[in-house]
Amino acid sequence: MNLHPKGTSARVLLTSVFGPYAQDDEFGSRRVNPMELYHNQVTRAQGSFSLRMFHRSWGIMMIQENISAPSTLLDFPSREAFSRQLTTRRYDIVGISSIIANVGKVREMCRMVRSLSPGSTIVVGGHVAAIQDIENRIDADHIVRGDGIAWMRGFLGQDVSAPIRHPHIVSGFDLHTMGIRVPAAAGNAAATIIPSVGCPMGCNFCTTSAFFGGKGKFLNFYETGDQLFRVMCEMESSMKVRSFFVMDENFLLHRKRAIQLLDRMKAANKAWALYVFSSANAISKYTMRELVELGISWIWMGLEGPRSGYAKLQGHDTLVLTKELRRHGIKLLGSTIVGMEHHTPANIRDEIEHAVSHETDFHQFMLYTPVPGTPLYQAMQAGGRLLDVDLADIHGQYKFNFQHPAISRDDSNRFLNWAFARDFERNGPSLFRICRTTLQGWKRYKNDPDPRVRERYTWEARSLKTAYSPLLWAMERDLRRTNPTVSDRIRDLRQELDGEFGVLPRLMASLLGPVVLWTSRREQKRLDAGKTYEPAAFIEHRNWVDARSPS
Ligand code: SF4
Repeated sequence: MNLHPKGTSARVLLTSVFGPYAQDDEFGSRRVNPMELYHNQVTRAQGSFSLRMFHRSWGIMMIQENISAPSTLLDFPSREAFSRQLTTRRYDIVGISSIIANVGKVREMCRMVRSLSPGSTIVVGGHVAAIQDIENRIDADHIVRGDGIAWMRGFLGQDVSAPIRHPHIVSGFDLHTMGIRVPAAAGNAAATIIPSVGCPMGCNFCTTSAFFGGKGKFLNFYETGDQLFRVMCEMESSMKVRSFFVMDENFLLHRKRAIQLLDRMKAANKAWALYVFSSANAISKYTMRELVELGISWIWMGLEGPRSGYAKLQGHDTLVLTKELRRHGIKLLGSTIVGMEHHTPANIRDEIEHAVSHETDFHQFMLYTPVPGTPLYQAMQAGGRLLDVDLADIHGQYKFNFQHPAISRDDSNRFLNWAFARDFERNGPSLFRICRTTLQGWKRYKNDPDPRVRERYTWEARSLKTAYSPLLWAMERDLRRTNPTVSDRIRDLRQELDGEFGVLPRLMASLLGPVVLWTSRREQKRLDAGKTYEPAAFIEHRNWVDARSPS
């Protein structure tokens, strides 16, 4: 068992890798791989309609919240800010968290620690730890695979099995779309909650499943619905939220916990909205009524295609399922893998068309990618099919890193880009689709006999009467020339909104629509000229007292 000699008196610096991120540089930043979850892999072909926002580094936030040692957390620091922290404070432990693609930055940060703070113990964790020979690539004292909270608690001599304290995490920040910064109004933000990590389904390409044990394994931070309910109540009152981004790889798979949570929500009259990740087989464990009462508002689900053979999809007609979910106002983010073994240049367009035909509100496309640590990587390695590709380019948004039986590396990039473009061409901006699904839910449940259900759908529909209508007006005008089919569908939706909510949406559209059209076109020009976005930096201190305080 590793134990730091200073125990909980050790001063700890926890940090994500340094930025900027959306540029090509020698440390492994890639313009095609910005620090934006949605724009990076979901809405990136949607031009000025793309959702631009950032999410914090939840792993190090969880660790900081659960250690008693004095600690500082740097999120999205510049190289200079990291260097400054190392030279102006004396840290006993420097913990660096990273994904695999950023291993070059981890190498540089380890080098900086050795040079600027030679007495510090360097601990590296996160998915980068899954690289087989990571010990030879970076100069760290400890490489942590899997649960970093337990490891760091153990290293500091704390009780490893103590209950998990959940930090207050605002789900996303700095939201922009159509050239407008969306204000973070109180009550609009969602809190991120992490009930479990890992997923027992163990799909061969899945990094998070593999990182926490693989098939059949997962780690619960909160075992029961009661525990989860208590944490959510605490967040509701302290963060003033009523919606939760449930960052669990397969939340609905744990039915007993979800149903107990539902019972508590009913008893306490909580009309919360939950945004979850779940596989088709997990969703199918519930009736539509249970999903609605549980507040399931949005689901990120895998749609790898009928021929993919994954257990989570077996026996489920995802076209029927997704249509049904949307009819109940449940917004969907479908996720499709491009370049699976059975894909060929002859069939891949049909496979992508099939994915796009689900008409989900969002669609993520990712290349089939053997990532270190996964069963797929091991199989490709054993078969001698891995290509010599820089780890900075292994993130699923560029080109294959393996020899595909039928598709070339360059074509993998072309098919990936075509998938995003086709989804946008056929289904239009995701903002429009969200609006359409939300309206379906509102119409269906606005008179529901259960006041808790009515209250949630009313809350979800609040922006339909006001903010959405100028956005739709501008989208409709902007797409009239380039995509008249989608433009007509947006017009129809606007008319439906007018019919439902009367004069207010019409008034908002005529007053603000032209302004939004102008900001959206200006944004498009900026994007065409190469504009990118970077997250703000965060610095957060915990457990420092008087003389040891870092301020
Ligand atoms: S169901 Fe989803 S989260 Fe679970 S292993 Fe498969 S890809 Fe990963």
